[in-house]
Amino acid sequence: MADPRVLRAMSTPLLGQFDPEFTAIMGEVVELSRFAFQTANARAFPVPGTGRAGLEAAIVSLVEPGDRVVVAECGRFGLLTIEIAERCGAEVVPVRGEWGRIIEPDAIASALEGGRTKILAVVHGETSTGVLQPLEEIARLAHAHGALLVADCVVTLGGCAVAVDRWAVDVATAGTQKCLSCPSGLAPVTFNARAERVIRERRSKVRSNYLDLGQLADYWSPARFNHHTAPTSMVYGLREALRAVREEGLEARFARHRLHGDALRAGIDALGLSLFGKEPPERRLPFITPVVVPEGVDDLRVRRRLIEDFAIEIGAAFGPLQGKIWRIGTMGYSAQRQNILLCLTALESVLRGEGFRAAAGAGVDAALAHYAAAGAAGPLAVDDNLGAGGIGRL
Ligand SMILES: *Cc1c(COP(=O)(O)O)cnc(C)c1O
Repeated sequence: MADPRVLRAMSTPLLGQFDPEFTAIMGEVVELSRFAFQTANARAFPVPGTGRAGLEAAIVSLVEPGDRVVVAECGRFGLLTIEIAERCGAEVVPVRGEWGRIIEPDAIASALEGGRTKILAVVHGETSTGVLQPLEEIARLAHAHGALLVADCVVTLGGCAVAVDRWAVDVATAGTQKCLSCPSGLAPVTFNARAERVIRERRSKVRSNYLDLGQLADYWSPARFNHHTAPTSMVYGLREALRAVREEGLEARFARHRLHGDALRAGIDALGLSLFGKEPPERRLPFITPVVVPEGVDDLRVRRRLIEDFAIEIGAAFGPLQGKIWRIGTMGYSAQRQNILLCLTALESVLRGEGFRAAAGAGVDAALAHYAAAGAAGPLAVDDNLGAGGIGRL
């Protein structure tokens, strides 16, 4: 769900892109992006386009034809990274892992040892399977081999820690429509001085004008290099979404995602459903719950009934997991107690219609017990957790 305060901000009248009022907003977006990425990098700004635009901008701007790029792949977005790197003319070395698991650092180390690598690209949160790839050790490995680490943080920014400086991630890319609860259309990125040097010292021109991070950095700097026309309403929306992150505070926001995800999983378990994946909780995304579709239950019919009867949209799955798992997202504005309880009630009802036997009320009871144990029971506040955009004000 988009945060209503973001949608309201997006309906603000437009400003010209060199209007001082607008350039001040751009400055604020840069400052807030640094906050969200936990970085002091000079470069932190949104690339125009959806999440993959940020990833593609990073790769097309860093890679020259023939450069060796190692990509860790254990899901759909790893595959996307491979495809983008191939299109940029890189010599791509994939490190493939089982979907539902992370890529072990040892496997990455041996790929890096196989040749002079310019970039190691990994997906921080693999949205297609729900795993969270730890980055710190991988960053050390990349640097020990003279490579830059590019991390796809599209699903993680604003939902769990993306500690760019602490982990020494050279380039991090994100999106607006996942844990930031803003419509899709911008891709916040940040990169350090090392990555910028690589971009500025290329032998050949970046093979994209629109996604040239050097030009985009100049456009977002006080130089105001004249590049694309500002997607004004998106910039308003992103600023508001990032302000909501700052007001809530990073730790509180991460704890909220964890709390509601855990409550949902307690309920899923009590309904007799199983989670997909073999990783321990610290290697799983707190805000994506992958659920195995039980034997004899029709994946599509369940999703259709959830959306038609309860207005709840849950995710289908991709590739080898299609029809086998659901992915329940509890990201950003959606991560609220009433949504979790409604989702569990709805699932129980719909699954009963499919002939799946779940103990009546068990899911909701388990989630409520989780909230009580976490000290998060009691009446919902008007703006529970969510600043001025809380559901009570709608
Ligand atoms: C959603 C997502 C993307 C792609 O973002 P788009 O906005 O659809 O272009 C890339 N990587 C990850 C991890 C994602 O979750």
